Amino acid sequence: MILENFLTEIKKTTADLWHKGWTEANGGNISVRVDKAVLEEIDPAAGQWVELPKKCPKIAGEIFYATGTGKHLRNVELSPSANGGFIEISPDGGAYRTLWGFQGGSKPTSELPSHLFTHNEVTTDQPGSPRVLIHCHTPNLIALSYAIKLDSNILSKLLWVMQTECLVVFPEGVSFLPWHVPGTNQIGEESAKLLKKRPVLLWEYHGLLVIGSSLDETFGRIHVAEKTVDIFFKARLCSAKLNYLSDEQLEKLRSQFDCRIDPEIMKTKLPF
Ligand SMILES: [Zn+2]
Repeated sequence: MILENFLTEIKKTTADLWHKGWTEANGGNISVRVDKAVLEEIDPAAGQWVELPKKCPKIAGEIFYATGTGKHLRNVELSPSANGGFIEISPDGGAYRTLWGFQGGSKPTSELPSHLFTHNEVTTDQPGSPRVLIHCHTPNLIALSYAIKLDSNILSKLLWVMQTECLVVFPEGVSFLPWHVPGTNQIGEESAKLLKKRPVLLWEYHGLLVIGSSLDETFGRIHVAEKTVDIFFKARLCSAKLNYLSDEQLEKLRSQFDCRIDPEIMKTKLPF
């Protein structure tokens, strides 16, 4: 049942990401830490160990589902085993091997080191520890990085003031990383550190990396942030001068929902 339930969830999430327009062509990738008991429900066919650029000891021995390099996320719904598969991390956390799926000799996403660095940073023994990382190309958030000179505080405050639920969903704010070449160890390591602090990260001119304890929570964070920027753009189309939540109203939200916010975001003045 673990396998069946997981495949149902991954098929729904990848289909939803596609229908939202966030994973064009082979854009976007996903990794999910799955219960090791899934091994009892698959017929593992272990591949060769592949060394990781950096050891990931906190996820040693863990099992992940990862989408495949060059694969289109819209096709995962048709075949999760042809467009991704399960991998196992070595006992010392220094390598991985494929166990199931990746049919036709395909491999995990080229962003796998970034994914595994992040899982290694954010995984804890606590309930609700992050298990999911989704990278996708959300058009409104990407467009925002072209339209406004962003930093983490400006982006976080913009989300808070443009949609009432955002302070509650992102009390610690969201992070912003200036443009880097994707797929490198440098962007992977910097992203992992930022995602440990805040669960949503916008890569300038590129897209989002979001973590969560489940596919639903992770998808929901993407959806709230992206929809809020859509609201911002719609409002700006109607008027150059905007009305939005005041600091006093944000403070009332913080108090009502007992949110532990980042005070630096509250102090930030928006450039519009
Ligand atoms: Zn991308």
